Amino acid sequence: MNNSIYLDYQATTPIDPRALDAMLPFFREDFGNPHSTQHSFGQRAEAAVESARSKIANLIGAEARELIFTSGATESNNIAIIGASRFRAKMGDGVKRVIVFAFEHKCVLEAARSLKEEGFTVEVLPVTPDGFADLDALKHALRTPASVVSLMAANNEIGTIQPIEKAGELTRSAGALLHVDAAQAVGKIPLSLSQLNADLLSISAHKMYGPKGVGALYVRRRPRARILPLFQGGGQERGLRSGTIPAALCVGFGAAAEIALENMTEEAERLQKLRTKFCDALDAAGAKYKINGSMTSRLPGNLNISFDNTSALQVMQNATNVAISTGSACSSASVEPSYVLQALGVDDIVAAGALRIGFGRMTTEVEVELAARELAAAARSAKNQTWAV
Ligand SMILES: *Cc1c(COP(=O)(O)O)cnc(C)c1O
Repeated sequence: MNNSIYLDYQATTPIDPRALDAMLPFFREDFGNPHSTQHSFGQRAEAAVESARSKIANLIGAEARELIFTSGATESNNIAIIGASRFRAKMGDGVKRVIVFAFEHKCVLEAARSLKEEGFTVEVLPVTPDGFADLDALKHALRTPASVVSLMAANNEIGTIQPIEKAGELTRSAGALLHVDAAQAVGKIPLSLSQLNADLLSISAHKMYGPKGVGALYVRRRPRARILPLFQGGGQERGLRSGTIPAALCVGFGAAAEIALENMTEEAERLQKLRTKFCDALDAAGAKYKINGSMTSRLPGNLNISFDNTSALQVMQNATNVAISTGSACSSASVEPSYVLQALGVDDIVAAGALRIGFGRMTTEVEVELAARELAAAARSAKNQTWAV
């Protein structure tokens, strides 16, 4: 019995069986191309895609026509950051400056960094020790014109929920666009684009109990966020993302959005209770550990802990029934301390011990108890092993 308890919900979520059921007809009889609307096969697929688009828009308080389908949050982040930056550089006033925060997902950091080759300046702003974007640094950075600021809604390692509303006020008054990587937040915490000054927002279906391989990018209409597409083709998705839309995946994504909206409050409460139960069980087992990142504004299903003086890799190797992640870039023998935790200023020994533990829809109380006991024991034996960072 290996890794039978799944506690890695920030890496991906299992698909909700209801979302899977909704998808299946679109792999079988309703296989039509949603862009081939001359016949009923295409029309059925198109209707299903549009219904899914409305459900996702409804979840985030947006209009359906403000969403374009992509292959996931990585692609959405690239289109948003590169597409919006290029638009302003080429079609606008020529400003070539992008602002990101040090704890963003790699795909955001790398998308921004890739713009350097096109002559852009990329500013990487600091985050606070408890895991929040430093808004004073943003205020200061925005004294120089910038085209895009990218700030995630919730961090994928430590789950901290970011001050998007305040960042939006700052960017809007400075004439910059705010892009939000909301891959971890959508479906987990309430987000309403009618109330947020976010201009572009990325979503991933597989982080919210939908299928892998599909995502969306919200592109605000009023005031309009302008972007250039990254590649050319048939001009689907308002010319911003050419390529045949995967109707089945979109349908699963839409179903997942509907389910998330319906269950969000209840699910958040349940996950918080599970997390508390997990920590209580660790305490009861005598484990000594430190929590990384603030607990006050955090995704309900996320925990990130470092057991005292233990390497995360060894704890994971000892706890064979629990599937968790180091939240770090692992190579075969060593753990690179997480750049997210380094951005918080966590010291290297603590960072090398960091374990990301994610609870989700299918997690049970029994699993939480068992996992806590197993991890506490694993940490105890890891402490007696050779320290290998
Ligand atoms: C998972 C994740 C991504 C990447 O999403 P994909 O849909 O897998 O491409 C981007 N940003 C954050 C914060 C994530 O958690």
